[in-house]
Amino acid sequence: MQVEEAGRTDQRELLDELLARGLLLATGVPGLYGRGREFERIRLGLDALLSRAFVAERAERMSFPPAIPRRQMESSGYLTSFPHLAGSIFSFDGSEAQAVEQDAVAQEHGDWSRFQRMTPLSLLPAACYPVYPAVAARGRLARPGLTIDPGAASVFRHEPSEDPTRWQFFHMRELVRIGEPDEVVTWRDGWLERGLGLLRGLGLEARRDVAADPFFGRTGRLLAASQREQELKYEIHLQIAGSTPTAIASFNCHQAHFAALYGLEFAGGGEVHTACLGFGHERIVVGLLRTHGFDPAGWPPEVAEQILS
Ligand code: ZN
Repeated sequence: MQVEEAGRTDQRELLDELLARGLLLATGVPGLYGRGREFERIRLGLDALLSRAFVAERAERMSFPPAIPRRQMESSGYLTSFPHLAGSIFSFDGSEAQAVEQDAVAQEHGDWSRFQRMTPLSLLPAACYPVYPAVAARGRLARPGLTIDPGAASVFRHEPSEDPTRWQFFHMRELVRIGEPDEVVTWRDGWLERGLGLLRGLGLEARRDVAADPFFGRTGRLLAASQREQELKYEIHLQIAGSTPTAIASFNCHQAHFAALYGLEFAGGGEVHTACLGFGHERIVVGLLRTHGFDPAGWPPEVAEQILS
């Protein structure tokens, strides 16, 4: 208990420091932050570093908006596994009289949800979600498969927190591999090593660990145990603030989950599996600031030259 309380104090102090220095901009909602000029300069420098690391992949670039069709949210299994993290988009669809009524309730900060209807859109939960249906729509795949770079997407997780590393909207830089079952595991393992090297090369005391997704409920605990047992997910952890280290990157094998869902197939037959990796921009930036100091002008030159040009 004491360790947890000390952890919360540590997180609060870090958040206060980031806000006081204008690195983060408060909105009044936990986990919803603006980014100051220096924070954004570091974040974009990190993204450019990742782009350079990804060059050898010869990945195909795809860009998507920060939303997916609601139907995809419904059929992807996300609401089964992570109902607590999903975000749905609602909007007004009423008469002029109802608009006046809604406004009156909203002015008082009351509950105006009865005037809102669900739209066909959900908030993007992970950068890779739009990739699978987009690739499947092009027809059967040529061997040995392909790598897609969906860029640094803005993703949403409904997890309000005072932890300055846990944001509700953040950028996730992913790479997605679609290929043969053995090959995607080798690809994932190779990137786990390269990712660890890249982050340690930034002076971060990063460690790799087998991990599990934050599945919901009692069934979720079983899913998490099975995921760990099969080593489907690895994370790179860094001690940033609080009583436990924070995941700053993840390396995931989905086996046939997305391939079966969207009908990804090789032209000549044979099973398709998928894997993805993701680097959490904001968590890495906060980790760099905590490790090397809040003023990047004082960072070790070997770190600064990789990120701040
Ligand atoms: Zn992914």
